[in-house]
Amino acid sequence: MSVEQINRKINQAFEYDDFAWQRENKIPVLYKDRARGLHKVLYQCPACRTEYRMDSGGAAIWCNHCSKRWTMSEYGELKALEGETHFAHIPDWYEWERKQVRREVEEGRYCFQGNATVRMLPNSKGFIDFGKAVLTHNMDGFTLEGNHDGTSYTLNIPAQSVYSCHIEYNYGKYKRDCVDLNTLNDSYWVFPEGDDFSVTKISLATEELFIYKKL
Ligand SMILES: [Zn+2]
Repeated sequence: MSVEQINRKINQAFEYDDFAWQRENKIPVLYKDRARGLHKVLYQCPACRTEYRMDSGGAAIWCNHCSKRWTMSEYGELKALEGETHFAHIPDWYEWERKQVRREVEEGRYCFQGNATVRMLPNSKGFIDFGKAVLTHNMDGFTLEGNHDGTSYTLNIPAQSVYSCHIEYNYGKYKRDCVDLNTLNDSYWVFPEGDDFSVTKISLATEELFIYKKL
């Protein structure tokens, strides 16, 4: 399976809760790398609560901070190697992450900021490099402050104006996770640098901020 296929599989699985379907119908997934990429979605450890230190491979997902480790059964269920499993059902883990994000939003302290590489999709001919930028996602929404060919620009997308955001895992020539920010005319593909971020969390925060601002 390619990374794109894994991407699609994970997205679909969450949308339709394939995991429950798989368990209830006893459909085994014998693919030996079945947990690979799962840490992109399950980015927060439920044992030590550390974010962005999860990793996965083969049929396992683990936390590089506290070393807790889970294996994924052929029926899509998780089980901790030692101690409490926390979440056997993968979508429950994801919903738990959403609750942590919601709390940050409700307490007014949600904030992500990091350096990023930007690419643009100006037309159907493909991507062009658009220089470096600083991406900020906080209670106000998205701000992208960048520089392209010596000209600085700022893009603001208020939290109340977007109910969701498009993300991709291991995308494009850099094989990096990205957030796609759109204006009426342009599409900015923002690839945060380093490992201290999760586009899944940014996506959850976009949804939770929109709901919070609407209330
Ligand atoms: Zn941990």
